[in-house]
Amino acid sequence: MEGMQLNFIHNSSIASLSGQTLQVTDPSDGQTFDEIQRSDERDVDAAVRAARQCFAGPWSDLSAAARGRLLMALSNKVLEHADELAALEQRDCGKPTTQARADAAALARYFEFYAGACDKLHGETLPYQAGYSVFTWREPHGVTGHIIPWNYPMQIFGRSVGGALAAGNCCVVKPSEDACLSVIRVAQLAAEVGFPAGAINIVTGYGHEVGDALARHPGIDHISFTGSPSVGTLIQQAAAERHCPVTLELGGKSPQIIFADADLNAALPVVINAIVQNAGQTCSAGSRVLIEQAIYEKMLGRLCQAFEALRVGPAAMDLDVGPLIRQSQQQRVWDFLSDAQAAGIPLVAQGTIDEHAPEAGFYQAPVLLADVPVHHRLAQEEVFGPVLSAMSFTDEDHAVELANATRFGLVAGIWTADGARQFRMARRVRSGQVFINNYGAGGGVELPFGGVKSSGYGREKGFEALHGFTTLKTVAVKHGPV
Ligand code: NAD
Repeated sequence: MEGMQLNFIHNSSIASLSGQTLQVTDPSDGQTFDEIQRSDERDVDAAVRAARQCFAGPWSDLSAAARGRLLMALSNKVLEHADELAALEQRDCGKPTTQARADAAALARYFEFYAGACDKLHGETLPYQAGYSVFTWREPHGVTGHIIPWNYPMQIFGRSVGGALAAGNCCVVKPSEDACLSVIRVAQLAAEVGFPAGAINIVTGYGHEVGDALARHPGIDHISFTGSPSVGTLIQQAAAERHCPVTLELGGKSPQIIFADADLNAALPVVINAIVQNAGQTCSAGSRVLIEQAIYEKMLGRLCQAFEALRVGPAAMDLDVGPLIRQSQQQRVWDFLSDAQAAGIPLVAQGTIDEHAPEAGFYQAPVLLADVPVHHRLAQEEVFGPVLSAMSFTDEDHAVELANATRFGLVAGIWTADGARQFRMARRVRSGQVFINNYGAGGGVELPFGGVKSSGYGREKGFEALHGFTTLKTVAVKHGPV
């Protein structure tokens, strides 16, 4: 065992009150290499109290510009420590080096964006009856709770906590028990650049223990949850008990819709990347490819060639695809694939696992399945692995019908040279983001992100996120003597 990670509360590294720990496994070789705290509701309570104290004093005393300067200092600090953070995330999540470095850079960019946004958030003046002045203030909720998944710990921490801090909140963060090392380190770096004690607190442990306690804590004024739809339901139920506002960023089954007039050379690498990035463990993965019948065979052939060339291996080898996060995730993908086989769905291409990949690592070669029936679970449920389901459509109406035929609506990619069709399709596809002749896999920090239907509600990223992390107060002033 190489180390022992502690919670970070009130700018101090402290053990959980129970003294219990959980082991951290490297997905590339299946070996444990670190320990984190297995916290409980008492640790959550300590973190919430630290955050409330900070919100009541030092944090709210800062001007918006001063908050922005702290966030900018944190952005620079993250860049200074980018290699260290990328290495932590790589070991923890099994991310190929290029991806882990991109995630560290994205984290710095989130803080940079929200640093600049702090002092640009304002209310409005409103017309009302004669003799009145009416205006609105955008006020922070107070203490926000952040429950984060394992697939992009740094990026999701950056977008969620960055936005909440910019809006003037103090934060209590529960990262995933499967990947939390980078997030703990970022909180330490924040203390180093001068964030007051209690502004950012990290409590690690299991979801049903720490996450549940956070969602139920009366000292939490808003919950930002990113994770699976089933846990999203539990969070929403817990929050409903005390009418606590929630933002839910859940799963997806996002379609890439390719018309016969599309630039296939441009589409091909983007479609591949959208399903193999992070081994397909991405909420916005383009996991369905809908291809116009006239080019179905041709495009499928090109996809097959590209899939056969994909290589899988340990994170440090920096191949196209790294391991899955854990053995149960690997088993989940296998279950989907055996269901596909039982249903006679053709597996038309797959990549190769490198001979140097340790036996005990959690590897899965990328797989391309053809002619997937729209109601089969492969076309309906989130696999969260590098599995692409292809199907054909006859015309625009059919493409829309297939695209909207799942319970999700997170992202869609539309590939066509026809300008009018681009707009028609963008209107008709039900999702939170639509990319035309590109696919942002979530897009940049500037672009509001979130879903419709079972993909959740509320928006993170962009300036829009600041509206979710604030509450609007209307002030009406009657002129003259009362
Ligand atoms: P998960 O729902 O299992 O866990 C997410 C977080 O919730 C973890 O920190 C976990 O410990 C916690 N949790 C688990 N049970 C809990 C409970 N009963 N109460 C409170 N908290 C609890 O999800 P995951 O497996 O970590 O992540 C994968 C899922 O996240 C996928 O469905 C993916 O689509 C989704 N996701 C969505 C987005 C987005 O922005 N829409 C981004 C990344 C991941």
